[in-house]
Amino acid sequence: MPELFIDGAWTSARGGSRRTIRCPADGRSVGEVDEAGREDTEAAVAAAANAFHQGPWPTTPSRERGDLLLRVADLLARDRTEIARMESLDTGKRLVESEYDVDDVVSVFRHYGRVAAEDAGRVVDTGNPGVVSRIVHEPIGVCGLITPWNYPLLQVSWKVAPCLAAGNTFVLKPSEITPHSAIHLMKVLKEAGLPAGVGNLVLGTGPEAGAPLSTDPRVDLVSFTGGLETGRRIMAAASASVKKVALELGGKNPNIVFADAEFDVALDFALTAVFLHSGQVCSAGARLVVEESVHDEFVDALVDGARRIRLGGPFDEKAETGPLTSAQHHDKVEAYVAAGLAEGAVLRCGGRRPDDPGLAEGFYYLPTVLDRCTGDMSVTQEESFGPVLTVETFRGEDEAVAIANDSVYGLAGAVWTQDAGKAERVAARLRMGTVWINDYHPYVPQAEWGGYKQSGIGRELGRAGLDEYRETKHVWHNIRPTAQGWFSGRNSTP
Ligand code: NAD
Repeated sequence: MPELFIDGAWTSARGGSRRTIRCPADGRSVGEVDEAGREDTEAAVAAAANAFHQGPWPTTPSRERGDLLLRVADLLARDRTEIARMESLDTGKRLVESEYDVDDVVSVFRHYGRVAAEDAGRVVDTGNPGVVSRIVHEPIGVCGLITPWNYPLLQVSWKVAPCLAAGNTFVLKPSEITPHSAIHLMKVLKEAGLPAGVGNLVLGTGPEAGAPLSTDPRVDLVSFTGGLETGRRIMAAASASVKKVALELGGKNPNIVFADAEFDVALDFALTAVFLHSGQVCSAGARLVVEESVHDEFVDALVDGARRIRLGGPFDEKAETGPLTSAQHHDKVEAYVAAGLAEGAVLRCGGRRPDDPGLAEGFYYLPTVLDRCTGDMSVTQEESFGPVLTVETFRGEDEAVAIANDSVYGLAGAVWTQDAGKAERVAARLRMGTVWINDYHPYVPQAEWGGYKQSGIGRELGRAGLDEYRETKHVWHNIRPTAQGWFSGRNSTP
């Protein structure tokens, strides 16, 4: 069966290109899929535009749209094991993590299924009883949805669920290296009864299959999750047709540990913050900012913990984290660590591939701690997207906040202290879209997610995540129209 999904049908790439998908844990092939070119994306946009302007979806009652999303959630829950397995083979992440991811995907579809019919708009008091003035929400139109490889189906769900809830049509372009769960989603959408042309899937590279979504005037919104450089490129390309752009970009997220934090808990979370999914998490707590008086004790214990982390493939039940996604990404992380060491960082652990010959075929990299870092180093400023923690120290609240905010990014950060007042003061001063106090990483579909500064534009999830996919229209209805006579001469002065 071909793997592109256009206008309700499975279609082969017009150019005949195929791509082999490889598991990062051992490099073996896990499947082959169609690789779309520009003409495939253009056909998908045409189908989405037709479905939007001619089809029933945008005017389907929002409660019915919500019901469809709830059916999708049930079908995804039914297929949990199958989807988790394909997600693990594409990403190399542990099966149990993929299962959690599918649960999160189901929650996202359930959330938008429930809220689809909420907030139909509002009535505005104009002060004129002869006028009914109301604000209504309408779908934006055709949405280009472009997503990364680290949480393949989860990132897709953050876009597809609110996009459909609001009545839009879409063309989805997932990462070219992790396509299988998106293919499965399209099957589920069809099974749930989504009309033809409303949801379209193109697989392929960014420059070929993705780029037309930012330039095609028929596309009304591009919602992108990925790296900063790609985000800049998409924003520039989209400006020609002044389309709406929503960007979820990278992060260099500070994890601030005060001396009065509960030591063992802060330590446990500091490890998870950065080493979960081998650091391939946009909100990874990759920048430890620790109070100087506890630096030695905390970092010694952290290094000890990092050294004990067991690496392994998706189906190795003893493994605690997996490989990097590709050889190219592995090289990037290696170069990043080398640059940090050249700038004066001190390597406390990791900084290389594991010795285990059983892992030699995968793109594994040991959990790495770079101590004695400073804000002027590239390692504290740039996103490695790998299992690399930098350590900086501070004295007092002001310095902690200054270090944490010293970044072009502003995605997420955390504060650890048992002093609630201090926690709130610091949280209020952090320029980030998410701040955790005495926690790291949790999110819920009801709460907005997104970045300050160069971590992005707009929000996903929550109410704002739905608003991204809606236009706002003001309808002014004069129920007692009478002629004004503005140009009839009655207003002219002699
Ligand atoms: P990437 O920017 O390389 O690619 C992301 C997607 O964009 C892929 O589908 C890719 O094919 C496509 N793409 C590339 N060039 C394109 C172009 N010119 N036009 C259109 N599409 C194009 O990012 P990645 O390596 O897949 O993902 C890692 C990045 O994603 C990290 O920087 C990470 O922080 C970020 N991320 C952010 C969030 C968030 O919520 N803020 C979540 C996950 C990942």
